[in-house]
Amino acid sequence: MRNIKELSLSELEAVLKEWGSPKYLAQELFSWIYKKGIQDFSKMSNISLEHRKRLKDNFSLVTLKLINKSVSIDGTEKFLFCLEDGNSIEAVIIPAKERLTGCISTQAGCKFACRFCASGALGFKRNLTCAEMLDEVLYLQSSHKLTHIVFMGTGEPLDNYDNVIKAIRIINSKPALGIGARRITISSCGIVPGIQRLSREKLQVELSISLHAADDKTRSNLMPVNKKYPLSRLLSACRDYVMDTNRQITFEYVLIEGVNSSLQSAGNLSTILRGLRLAKVNLIPANPIKELGVKPPGKLEILFFRDYLLKHGVNATLRLPRGQDIEAACGQLRLRYEKK
Ligand code: SAH
Repeated sequence: MRNIKELSLSELEAVLKEWGSPKYLAQELFSWIYKKGIQDFSKMSNISLEHRKRLKDNFSLVTLKLINKSVSIDGTEKFLFCLEDGNSIEAVIIPAKERLTGCISTQAGCKFACRFCASGALGFKRNLTCAEMLDEVLYLQSSHKLTHIVFMGTGEPLDNYDNVIKAIRIINSKPALGIGARRITISSCGIVPGIQRLSREKLQVELSISLHAADDKTRSNLMPVNKKYPLSRLLSACRDYVMDTNRQITFEYVLIEGVNSSLQSAGNLSTILRGLRLAKVNLIPANPIKELGVKPPGKLEILFFRDYLLKHGVNATLRLPRGQDIEAACGQLRLRYEKK
């Protein structure tokens, strides 16, 4: 049976029209499911019994099952969920000043095998459906009022393009969650055709690119996806994206000891970003992952790296790692769990 959360408002309206039911019922259903978070047709009290039965006979409303929850001393909360087919996924809530950000997974596992990332270590299982991603958001939303959503959990959003965009449109739509597109971020390891498609989408979402290295040798070594979409192609797609959308791109740069944190790397980074309008660099000291031998550089090296970029006109900020005590870096909780 089809999960009702696979349907956009207009698709739901079309089904209701086919049934000869009033169109406004679609808005009402959206309000119950997304605004009130009710995941049971029989509790939708202002919908007639007859309609509730018909909906129940035609659609499912399954949700995620929580397996584990951990809370960091910095307030980060991490959730591990079980899907209907037994796969597991993670979602995280990150509080910061006036923001409450939900970090959503887009795939069970990941095919891209970045060397420093725990998600890739378990391989790829499958794409998440639109409903499953919405369920992550709804679960987080049930205890908190999220202000921002980042598609930065496990998986590659641009490798599950259609489902991610559909979920974003529903999160964005007023009768559902009404979270503004500018408060929604897609983070990608650099899938060039996906970036090109996104620039034509007429959706004001934020785009983050996980760059992590500024020369092809280092980047291919860290991120095998670079062999398919090397830096020249990636940066050219980014330039076009900025031209077409007039939107800023944030480049994520995870600093890993002995790999990409020297001043020479900083020099390469400032060189390749030259000429890219509206580029911002987010420096993130690597979350240590014992299993992968990943460590952040020392504090001084991190500050030298940042200062070099600032001196050379790169708009760089240093982001503190969050939730380290609960292993909230990409896929770490899941890695522990699946190993058991
Ligand atoms: N596939 C997408 C989104 C998932 S990864 C992407 O690559 O952007 C989300 C972010 O977490 C990426 O920037 C990724 O590089 C980063 N990340 C993965 N492992 C990390 C670690 N050990 N320390 C810090 N950041 C990490």
